[in-house]
Amino acid sequence: MNKGIPLIVSGPSGCGKDTLLRVLFEKYPQVKFSISAVTRPKRGSDTEDGKYRFVTREQFEQMLRDDELLEHNEYVGNYYGTPRQPVSDAVNNGSDIVLEIDVNGAAQIREKLPEAVSVFIMPPSMDSLRGRLTGRGTEASEVVEQRLAQAISEIGRAGEYDYIVINDDLQTAADEIYSILTAEKAKYKNNKNFINEVLNNA
Ligand code: 5GP
Repeated sequence: MNKGIPLIVSGPSGCGKDTLLRVLFEKYPQVKFSISAVTRPKRGSDTEDGKYRFVTREQFEQMLRDDELLEHNEYVGNYYGTPRQPVSDAVNNGSDIVLEIDVNGAAQIREKLPEAVSVFIMPPSMDSLRGRLTGRGTEASEVVEQRLAQAISEIGRAGEYDYIVINDDLQTAADEIYSILTAEKAKYKNNKNFINEVLNNA
């Protein structure tokens, strides 16, 4: 059996990444999602989407000491991190798994998992980004400003990624992400196990 692909997905806050990933998982339910541990307070929409495991700062620091996290980052005053075990389980079971993480986390993953593939989601314009950040209405204006400044600096690092997907039409963007996985899975280096299994049965 071939291994699954760890797929890093990053994009600035306000690029519509959450909605896009929801469409991706609806259309392609076989793709898994890596649930991050996070110390930030819950927002209204967090309860339904199950993206995060909410922990205290002390619990997070314990996870770090126990080396349970593949990567972590501090973002706007809160810790975010990727638990190691679910990612290695998915990959070893042949499942593709999306790691929705920021640019700093992505850089750490590239060091630790060179086989990871990375996609940067771009908003179609700066206006749409600003509109989504202010329209969300869930955060104080200084947090929105912080997120906007962070977004601009994150876009400056888009060149670190293997692929760019523009999130204009959701369905098209979700299909593009899945096409990336399909193409990556067809690479020779990702088919060595399969080829050996076939040859061993010759
Ligand atoms: P939000 O608070 O809006 O849900 O997420 C803020 C940022 O944290 C986003 O850029 C998101 O991609 C990133 N993020 C979410 N989970 C993780 C994680 O496990 N590790 C890292 N490094 N960033 C994460």
